[in-house]
Amino acid sequence: MNLCREVAERLLAYRDGELEETEEPFIKEHLQYCPSCLDLLNGYDEVCDVLHRLQPVNMPSGVLERCRERLRREAAGEPPLHDHGDSCSAE
Ligand SMILES: [Zn+2]
Repeated sequence: MNLCREVAERLLAYRDGELEETEEPFIKEHLQYCPSCLDLLNGYDEVCDVLHRLQPVNMPSGVLERCRERLRREAAGEPPLHDHGDSCSAE
């Protein structure tokens, strides 16, 4: 069970306010004690901020998917509680 991966998969929905009411507290709580997930959320804010500035009118739907995929990859490549190493596969 990898909490960070669970959270990462929901960060987009959380940020957009599309998360289930039952899941939101779980994300909020996790973000309070997990700096790496908070980083991920902030990083997503920055990315989308830039995207909005670059394409203020019509954002292709693929962009959102790529954002999501990127978050997933970053979460998968980042160990939740350690500074280094690929320990994410240890579930
Ligand atoms: Zn986390």
